Amino acid sequence: MFRRIVEAMEGYVPGEQPRDRRYVKLNTNENPYPPSPQVLEALHDAVAENLRLYPRPMADELRERAARLYRLQPENVLVGNGSDELLAIVMRACVDPASRVAYPVPTYSLYDTLVSIHGGQAVHVPFPPDFSLPEALLETDAKLVIVCNPNSPSGTLVPPESFRALLERRPSRLVVADEAYVDFADANCLDLLREHRNLVVLRTLSKSYSLAGLRIGLALGAERVIEALAKVKDSYNVNRLSIVAGAAALRDPRWMEGNVRRIRRSRDALTRRLVEMGFEVPPSQANFVLARRPGQDLGPVYEGLKRRGVLVRHFPTPDLRDALRITVGTDDEIGVLLRVLGQLVG
Ligand SMILES: *Cc1c(COP(=O)(O)O)cnc(C)c1O
Repeated sequence: MFRRIVEAMEGYVPGEQPRDRRYVKLNTNENPYPPSPQVLEALHDAVAENLRLYPRPMADELRERAARLYRLQPENVLVGNGSDELLAIVMRACVDPASRVAYPVPTYSLYDTLVSIHGGQAVHVPFPPDFSLPEALLETDAKLVIVCNPNSPSGTLVPPESFRALLERRPSRLVVADEAYVDFADANCLDLLREHRNLVVLRTLSKSYSLAGLRIGLALGAERVIEALAKVKDSYNVNRLSIVAGAAALRDPRWMEGNVRRIRRSRDALTRRLVEMGFEVPPSQANFVLARRPGQDLGPVYEGLKRRGVLVRHFPTPDLRDALRITVGTDDEIGVLLRVLGQLVG
């Protein structure tokens, strides 16, 4: 009944979204703090308005606000129903059956799912132990390269400068910088957009702006690239409420920055405590950390945490089973996590 590729592929497995609210939920990198009050105010007004009518197809209000914030033109911005949708749109626009799509691994496993849907071929280039950009990525003949930066699940950042060679070696290939976590980092790739027409920067309002529930993503790139991506999107891909809320959030970046400062402080304290407990923790530039016990399967620790009401993420793959990915919650939540973790790993 279905395409052979679809019968054969695995679906993406998202982190659990339990109905039970009593969990300390540190598994899907949501922000523990609420969005700007301006968002709630704008939503309140929008609900009373014209839900009867379709939204603007290019989400103009949000598109223009994003362009202003990032010092670009509206033509350089595509708004998506989350940056996951924008990743799907990029694949739809670039990947033919058997096309090669390269990315450093371990990384966001949705890339594999999206490549499979189009019958493309994923080229996995392993990160070196220090999670710098792998040299081999430069040499790949893939027509699409994706770098998650900061990377999930490692939390590490490759310096934007190291994208330069990747972009210049083959100007005909598209390079996607998935910057879902970049507001928590010290640097980003925005400046490279001015010189390179084969770069797409993806942002999301899910993490730093505390709006995961509304599904708002942004693709930033050259006008020619944004036009091509827009051709293959759904006509009304972003709903009216998300457009209004996203624009309000971007009008108040200070609110987001305040939350980010708190989360970065908590992240650094959490990292120190985990290291004292004997975990290896790569330096995180995101709102989560990867806590590793080389050679030890942490599946049972994940299960033990869950039984005691603390949800984190464990990936049961050979290269990640010795690690837990832990979202930086409030200091209270981190306190609970550390206490329970201490009981489990001694
Ligand atoms: C969370 C995340 C996304 C998706 O963000 P949404 O805007 O919520 O769809 C994309 N890429 C990475 C690496 C992420 O962690």
